[in-house]
Amino acid sequence: MAEFALIRDYFSTLGSPRDDVILGVGDDGALVRPRPGQELVLVLDTLVAGVHFPGSASPADIGHKALAVNLSDLAAMGAEPAWATLGLTLPKPDRDWVRAFAQGFDALARQHGVQLVGGDTTRGPLSVTVQVAGHVPPGQALRRDGARPGDAIFVTGPLGGAGLGLKLALGELTLPRALAREPLRRLHRPEPRLREGQALRGLASAAIDISDGLLADLGHLLAASGVGARVRLEALPLDESVRACLAELGGWQAPLSAGDDYELCFTVPPEQVAACERLLTEWACGGARIGSVERESGLRCEDARGRVHPMQQGGYEHFA
Ligand code: ADP
Ligand code: MG
Repeated sequence: MAEFALIRDYFSTLGSPRDDVILGVGDDGALVRPRPGQELVLVLDTLVAGVHFPGSASPADIGHKALAVNLSDLAAMGAEPAWATLGLTLPKPDRDWVRAFAQGFDALARQHGVQLVGGDTTRGPLSVTVQVAGHVPPGQALRRDGARPGDAIFVTGPLGGAGLGLKLALGELTLPRALAREPLRRLHRPEPRLREGQALRGLASAAIDISDGLLADLGHLLAASGVGARVRLEALPLDESVRACLAELGGWQAPLSAGDDYELCFTVPPEQVAACERLLTEWACGGARIGSVERESGLRCEDARGRVHPMQQGGYEHFA
């Protein structure tokens, strides 16, 4: 049967073999041994064709991204990933497609020590659901609700790259090849900031990953913490290509609300700011300090002269 042959040939040994997996793919359920004394973080994300990736995305890109968006959620919790399961819905049992998809998934899983331990394979419109479990020391998970007035706000890397990549992928904009490479890479091959998230345990007061744009996701963090913030527009890190076509993209609104960047946004109490700035230099992924948490609710974006610019809040909403 095609379904079982696909599972056997492509999904039975994906990722890093882990010695805490007692039973992986093949039984009714996976059996794993959680690390004694640690907490488990569980995350799940679905990618739907045409919504989360354009038709032009390669199967290897889709395999990478389906895992990457989940690892990004674990990064935002400060967790270390361990085991993944995969729900794959395919229009037809296309072996070439599945082989390339599995390769994209496998390469990223190995990079982060993740083993695929189970899943489900069904027929229907293309959609990919991945669940990942990871460990975090007790009480040390990074949450959204810990930001306090006076905390500094940081991001781990540049914003708007994936949004520009999507415009390029959809043919809504063109750029010379050298400038197009980075935004397309950010769209199709996001790099989960796992090392960064783990290093922020005990330093950050709150964290979130930027999947729906900074305005929306920082907005969630601020709402969960019951605070507001001021963001300095000129401090926002941008990719060279985003900076080059900022006007064409419609100005600051674009990098602030474009989704899919998968950087972390986090807040840090004043006494940890110096330590965080050292980390940013060490990480070298282009992060920056972008603003500060305030008592007054709402998010104020100000330019170099201190003028507050009105921004539309909304990030991507599926039921809007
Ligand atoms: P069941 O009928 O018991 O749900 P399945 O036929 O769905 O079993 O799956 C058989 C085995 O293959 C299970 O161990 C399941 O976890 C695994 N599996 C199915 N699809 C996938 C997939 N896409 N990726 C990884 N493992 C899978
Ligand atoms: Mg099943």
